[in-house]
Amino acid sequence: MVATDARTYQNYIGGEWADGRDGGTIENRNPANPADLIGLWPRSTPADMAEAVDAAVGAAPGWANTSALQRGAVLLRAAALLEARTEEVAAAMTREEGKTLREARGETTRGVAILRYYAGEGAQPVGEVYPSANTRTMLYTLHVPLGVVGVITPWNFPVAIPLWKIAPALVYGNTVVFKPAELTPLTATLLTQILEEAGLPKGALNLVVGLGHEVGPALTGDERVTGVSFTGSNRVGREIGRAVTDRGGKAQLELGGKNPVVVLADADLDQAAALTVQGAMMSAGQKCTATSRAIVERAVLEPFARKVAERVRALVVGDGMDERTQVSPLVSAAQRDKVVEYLDLARQEGVETLAGGEALEGPEYRGGYFVQPTVYANVRPESRLAQEEIFGPVVGIIPARDYDEAVTLANGVRFGLSASVFTRDIAKGLRFTRDIQAGIVHVNGETAGAEPQVPFGGMKGSSSYSREQGKAAEHFFTQIKTVYLDEPATPAPAAPFPVATDPTTMEREASE
Ligand code: NAD
Repeated sequence: MVATDARTYQNYIGGEWADGRDGGTIENRNPANPADLIGLWPRSTPADMAEAVDAAVGAAPGWANTSALQRGAVLLRAAALLEARTEEVAAAMTREEGKTLREARGETTRGVAILRYYAGEGAQPVGEVYPSANTRTMLYTLHVPLGVVGVITPWNFPVAIPLWKIAPALVYGNTVVFKPAELTPLTATLLTQILEEAGLPKGALNLVVGLGHEVGPALTGDERVTGVSFTGSNRVGREIGRAVTDRGGKAQLELGGKNPVVVLADADLDQAAALTVQGAMMSAGQKCTATSRAIVERAVLEPFARKVAERVRALVVGDGMDERTQVSPLVSAAQRDKVVEYLDLARQEGVETLAGGEALEGPEYRGGYFVQPTVYANVRPESRLAQEEIFGPVVGIIPARDYDEAVTLANGVRFGLSASVFTRDIAKGLRFTRDIQAGIVHVNGETAGAEPQVPFGGMKGSSSYSREQGKAAEHFFTQIKTVYLDEPATPAPAAPFPVATDPTTMEREASE
């Protein structure tokens, strides 16, 4: 097994740690201090990916034939191992992804909870028994594994997202090929080590690090990979969806968001402002559920905007390793440049800036990818700032005449991941839960955050209409087998069953 402090790391294929076949590597650097080289990982090739799929195919029958209780026990051991290594995993996450140590600890703890939840799923029913038209028939379903699944993940939750795909995939009896984001291979390596140590058999989980466009197609296009679960950008997600479904596979896509908070005139404005800022600025806004639009009834527009701007100006930006930091760097130079493009656009369009609006580049930032937490006022609803996912610490305030206009504006984007309304009127809160086009709805809460026992996913352009986590994970990672179990032919039943005229029974009798 590779040591966690080694400078050169490896793939994990068929139970062995191995270099990529052609020896190319990818550098992993700290976004708060790019001079800090964390390590080198394989720049894998399609041949490496094919080898990983071979291993997963080879291990699939054996793993599917273990008891789900045993598979759950492996996850439970992994939970204990991850819990014991929380500080190490959190520090690795902060160093390679940038988020604050506090958030990284929280995400690691959530990873432990995800593993425990799916360990428990190993003891849950694996099908249902139905009444049959024939009273002697035992009619039941079995939820059986898909076989081999591909797991393709983004960098922004490098522990939680891989685990909320890998843990259910494994417990429901699938083997996995894991292609983590190239920006966060260290946490992926640590998770793989932990699952190996927890007792997974060889080939049940395979890790292939590489650039998405180079190794991804060898996974998504391989007919032996029955299902692919992807979280990431809309562009890549739609491409993967087509690649998988065109060859008859099953695809799950969790994509971007443009999540609104709606602040009604009767809201507690301090609560609304605090949770808007938290939702927009934590993880430097790089959450799929981050708040990026605040749609505010005109009656409270001025005090709400003032409270948000005051809070944002007071935020401490810096290296996530520093316990005082509240807003961390963006994950990469490319991500920083993309956010800066939106800041430039706002300047060109003359959008009123209430806080921030600039990249941070002084010597104290050591070349790290920092931007100021930014608040814009009176953003035009049809502008790119209000329509596109920025994925940075930027929130735009949009005025609304009343509740109806606020909901129309909230729904007026192509995304539909999460949303929140702030109001003291619970009837309006309930109405919002019906009116809003979002897969996750909060009343008086932050748009971000998810508990592992409930379904997670978006409407409209934010997903492929499948859900992850909770019981919903079983829908994706299993397929249904329906079993008609009849008695052997002799002795024949004494008399026709009273339901013999039922078409189902007649059809079955005719074919016997
Ligand atoms: P991305 O789409 O660039 O990459 C995601 C993954 O896909 C990476 O592992 C990448 O290597 C891989 N990939 C890229 N090209 C590929 C290809 N051709 N074939 C196969 N794999 C390929 O996304 P990102 O920048 O890592 O993540 C940010 C995006 O993820 C944002 O849009 C964000 O909203 C979204 N996201 C969504 C959710 C959700 O649950 N809805 C959660 C987190 C992040």
